Amino acid sequence: MSQIHCHFCGGVIQDAATIEYRPPRASAQYAMPQASPCTCSPPIVYEHPPMLGGPDEDQTPDGEAA
Ligand SMILES: [Zn+2]
Repeated sequence: MSQIHCHFCGGVIQDAATIEYRPPRASAQYAMPQASPCTCSPPIVYEHPPMLGGPDEDQTPDGEAA
């Protein structure tokens, strides 16, 4: 079972069900993966959601200027 690292703090995400997926983007900041547990609420992962993600779902998140 592979570990998922939070892209915001780099920590290991304990509960994958709490992950907040965000569309990958050039301006996204990726923290260096580390062994300590993620403390974010929710953990942030810049990937498409495994269930809903589609290649043409690439819209700018609400409220953010490009
Ligand atoms: Zn985190």
